[in-house]
Amino acid sequence: MFERSGFHFFTFRGIDVAVSPWYLLLMAFYMFSPMLGSGSGNAANAFFGGLMTVLAITVSLIVHEFGHGFVAKFYRLRPSILLHGFGGLCSHDIASSDKDDALVVFAGPAAQLVFAGGVFLLNTFLLAGLNLGTATPLLSSFVYALIFFSVFWALLNLLLPIWPLDGGQLFHLFLRRLMPEDKARALALRVSIFLLIPLGIFAFMKAGIFLAILIVYILMYNFQLLNSGQDLAGRASGARAAQSPASAFQDELLGDAERALADEDFREAYRVCHQLRSTGAMPDKMLARVWEILAVSAVAMERFEEAESYLERAPNTAAVRRARELAQPHLG
Ligand SMILES: [Zn+2]
Repeated sequence: MFERSGFHFFTFRGIDVAVSPWYLLLMAFYMFSPMLGSGSGNAANAFFGGLMTVLAITVSLIVHEFGHGFVAKFYRLRPSILLHGFGGLCSHDIASSDKDDALVVFAGPAAQLVFAGGVFLLNTFLLAGLNLGTATPLLSSFVYALIFFSVFWALLNLLLPIWPLDGGQLFHLFLRRLMPEDKARALALRVSIFLLIPLGIFAFMKAGIFLAILIVYILMYNFQLLNSGQDLAGRASGARAAQSPASAFQDELLGDAERALADEDFREAYRVCHQLRSTGAMPDKMLARVWEILAVSAVAMERFEEAESYLERAPNTAAVRRARELAQPHLG
């Protein structure tokens, strides 16, 4: 649904942050649109005010996504962050349980709320004490935008059970505890659609066409998911995941990966294994072999940082032990 790529922005603690052209466009729009409405004398003020808002939104979104990112990294799910036209996205490998998944999702809004609280305290006890608030209206507009947007975005994400917002994902994970996955996904998407329709009408009448189009877009995405039967969590309910038979497609991919490994085409073996993982749940035995191939290939390609997490998950076979020995000097 959302664009998946962008320009590399920075890397922090091994987590890449990218920015999509749509994000830059949207922020430019926010920055320059107040200027258009103001008289010539106020244009500079309006511009700097807009700039503070854009900076505050960007900082706050990054805090939110790093909330997801750090927990995903803790579970070794190789997170990466993208700021895109609809906010932020933290992509990562499929979590191995619903509990891990829920913690990753919850951490985003939680980080943002804690951050807003911290900024509020800092502002109340430090900045206000120094009387910077009146001395520099730009700083104070930045601080207020930071607090306001963080609380707004965190609550919006947490409280609305709309897919694919954080609240929608948590609601789906909650429903999975009560009912089988096919019922849970259908109910989660229907509730999401049920909420999006009045929201879209409200946005169209009160908040402008841009938000209305965005909501219609998300609505169509929800309908499409509901009709396609596509997996929402990327992981079938616990009990069934363990027993699910490998599909013919998965068998075929594993065969490709084995052949590539035998030919010492590690890049291809690695690529095919990632493709295989994106197909969803697979039998434990197959998954163990996938970890093994990923670990051996990553070490052969000297991508030791990635290899580390695969080596940990891979079964203790001779090939894995050898790969561990090769990787050992390169790991901290
Ligand atoms: Zn989030």
